[in-house]
Amino acid sequence: MRIQSDFGCDLCNQQSDAYHALAHFTTDFPPGENGKVFMAIPLGKGQFDLAVDQAIVGRVKLHHTDLSHLRLLSSDPLFAAEFGRSYAETAFHALSEMISKYTIAADPVYISNDQRGINWFEAQMERFGKLQAHFYKQILP
Ligand SMILES: [Zn+2]
Repeated sequence: MRIQSDFGCDLCNQQSDAYHALAHFTTDFPPGENGKVFMAIPLGKGQFDLAVDQAIVGRVKLHHTDLSHLRLLSSDPLFAAEFGRSYAETAFHALSEMISKYTIAADPVYISNDQRGINWFEAQMERFGKLQAHFYKQILP
């Protein structure tokens, strides 16, 4: 899921430290028998991609603005067109940015040795790659 936080955390807005980001959510939603947040990727602008157990999705939504329904669609806030750029160009650049943030966050994912987290991570990367190729075709001269 994608959420907008109100942490106002500079580190999360500037870097892609997945350990640090996960700590925010582990504090707010302590892992329990009902599940946990098992991956948090900071995307900047107060946004995070989270991998969470279905059972706690509702609790996460109570604390944060849920943007999941917009994620990777034309209304994705990260795809908001910038001046002088077409939508396809903006989306392409946003996806490149997301791929680089995920790439930086990859180490903790693989070190965790959590197969569920790894599967989630790889599924996201595959989706970004396909979408990026899609937009690339549209911005070719
Ligand atoms: Zn932070």
